[in-house]
Amino acid sequence: MGKQDYNFAQTIKAFFIRKLPEDYLTHPQGSSLTHQTLNSSTTEIRTLTLTERFQRVSMIIHDIDQRFPTKKEHANAPIDKEKISDEIAALNKISSTLQFSERYNNWIKIITKLALTDLYQSTEAAEYISNWKKLSQKDTQKFLKLNHHFIISNVKRMLGKNTDLAKHIREDRVFLYHESYQKNPDTNEARILRGIANIGSNIWPGSNGIHINTHPDSRFQNLACALDVIFHESVHIIEGQIGYAYRYSSPIVPDWLKQDAALIVERDSNNAYIPTRMGNSYYKQFNEVLAHQIGQFVNQTINLTPPAPL
Ligand SMILES: [Zn+2]
Repeated sequence: MGKQDYNFAQTIKAFFIRKLPEDYLTHPQGSSLTHQTLNSSTTEIRTLTLTERFQRVSMIIHDIDQRFPTKKEHANAPIDKEKISDEIAALNKISSTLQFSERYNNWIKIITKLALTDLYQSTEAAEYISNWKKLSQKDTQKFLKLNHHFIISNVKRMLGKNTDLAKHIREDRVFLYHESYQKNPDTNEARILRGIANIGSNIWPGSNGIHINTHPDSRFQNLACALDVIFHESVHIIEGQIGYAYRYSSPIVPDWLKQDAALIVERDSNNAYIPTRMGNSYYKQFNEVLAHQIGQFVNQTINLTPPAPL
């Protein structure tokens, strides 16, 4: 087992094997919470605290996990969505009340445009791009890392280079892996993980790594798709590091970011990340909404002309 395989295995493990919250047994089970959620209005759900809402998400996820245990060979294969349609509807209803602020979303969009501008102006990047289809694994890794660098350096720039939070933000490592679709044998529905970044706010910044799937099934050979995925995962890295800063040294997080940082920390404290196998509820959770938007923006922009000035 190579070093990269080891890191990937560790990441996957941390990502998919969630522990039950300590007070799991003293809470109503997920199935009754699903119905309680479906019978409440969104306004009523908004009156619950962040913790209560993420706990509810966590309970519903654990209820699904218990009924449809993860199989090691296809940990991400989608569960038959007909069988969990109530749970998906309930999760989506709660998620609609747990979204990043407009200000945070726009801030990340500005960082993305600045990073794309750096990419367009970089002779090093131009070299990699002109040889894209022929790049060695090592150069592919370097190119992805360069893009990650453009993103992180613009996060620091936007925060103000000498601020405490900017000093805390670090670039992460980039690894490659190769993995095909994972299929649910009952429904034949397949899903592929195009990349992975452990997004926990309890992970030491820069210690975790981004893992990018270079398998042809992931459309990685298409430059726009490769950039889509490195930007997507980098958005998660920013999220994890802001969450970490807020969790362990909240005074360094500027006031305007605190509400969004609290969202990240509360999700992690309650083990409430919705896994890919749970239908479209995965796409509707706040951090995936943003990461997918950014990835798609990059994907659509990259084939066109340089981004419009800010
Ligand atoms: Zn994601």
